[in-house]
Amino acid sequence: MFNETFHKNHIRRIAIVGSGLAGLTAAIKLKQQGHDVTVFEKSRGPGGRLSAKRVDGGSVDMGAQYFTSRNPDFLPFLTEFAGEDSFATWNGQFGFQNKDGGWQAFPDEPRYVGTPRMTALSRALSVHANVVAETRIESLVRADQHWALCDINGKLVGEFDQVIITAPPAQARDLLARSDLPELAAKLDDAVSRVLPCWAVAVHFDENPWPRHNGMRCDHPALFWVANNSSKPGRKSASQEHNGAWWVLHANPEWTGRNVDASADRVTEELVAAFRELTGTTAVATQTVTHRWLYARSEGGASPGHLWFQEQAIGIAGDWLSGGRVEGAFDSACSLVAACADNQVSL
Ligand SMILES: Cc1cc2nc3c(=O)[nH]c(=O)nc-3n(C[C@H](O)[C@H](O)[C@H](O)COP(=O)(O)OP(=O)(O)OC[C@H]3O[C@@H](n4cnc5c(N)ncnc54)[C@H](O)[C@@H]3O)c2cc1C
Repeated sequence: MFNETFHKNHIRRIAIVGSGLAGLTAAIKLKQQGHDVTVFEKSRGPGGRLSAKRVDGGSVDMGAQYFTSRNPDFLPFLTEFAGEDSFATWNGQFGFQNKDGGWQAFPDEPRYVGTPRMTALSRALSVHANVVAETRIESLVRADQHWALCDINGKLVGEFDQVIITAPPAQARDLLARSDLPELAAKLDDAVSRVLPCWAVAVHFDENPWPRHNGMRCDHPALFWVANNSSKPGRKSASQEHNGAWWVLHANPEWTGRNVDASADRVTEELVAAFRELTGTTAVATQTVTHRWLYARSEGGASPGHLWFQEQAIGIAGDWLSGGRVEGAFDSACSLVAACADNQVSL
């Protein structure tokens, strides 16, 4: 157990694993409290499931499609640290599909997107954080009064008083297990099965095949969500000026589960065919981009906000601890940092 002197120090060296919205939010807020914070990210850039792929003349959002702001602190935080130009309201028509195939409008509430792509938010937020990219944390090794973090090559990347893990539960659990912390890892077992996979396909048509909606929650054997990415603010591209449009198709978790090991080519073909069936379009796809998410959206379960393991000085935050979704990632990071500030946990 870490001793009293360890817990009484005020300024801490804190490592955050993961630079999605939860990791970046925690980093900015803990830095504001005066701590020395380093964020480690396994991918090339920050953002996690706020993700976009470059395509001819622009980019398409492959992960989170939009976000809400029910927490009154969320938009002010984004405005202050990401800047007011990094996001905008996505106005449009959004529909749920009924069992009889008809459409019902989404509740009237503002929906926001990063501009000109979802990753604009994480890029802008990361300017305020010390993010070390392309560094997958393989294990935490307890060494006297601190944690030593090692990457996949066994290289020591730093020594820290405290570690916050913001990876999805399966990855967080594996990291804890590899770090000889099986009791902590076991506490994430239930959450692992609640984060569901999703195949995502972006498809370009020379003419917008479905002008009626901007985004649709589908009742279809394969599709869960389809959206006209080109209708989001700030996405103007050369192709759009000629009536072309990029649509993003997300498969539902059951279909993805059954096809999780299928080839990207087959998935693309089947999801584009499903979109044709859904909309009745005969338009030909001129370009496609496909991505498989093993951990996409979380479903159900408790929402404790965050987890804190006092003896080990390890915190856990992420969307799945606060109802899922982009805003949940922000809420979870705030919950952990607020608990620290209120001395509910010893920072
Ligand atoms: C297809 C899809 C559609 C979605 N649609 C919506 C939507 O419309 N609206 C909405 O609100 N939400 C949506 N979501 C959910 C939303 O994207 C997430 O809730 C949110 O982005 C999660 O943020 P996070 O910081 O908790 O986790 P993440 O964004 O997953 O961040 C975790 C980070 O940890 C990194 N990492 C993991 N392990 C390690 C390691 N060992 N070492 C270093 N780094 C590591 C990962 O690379 C990642 O960058 C969607 C998600 C997907 C995938």
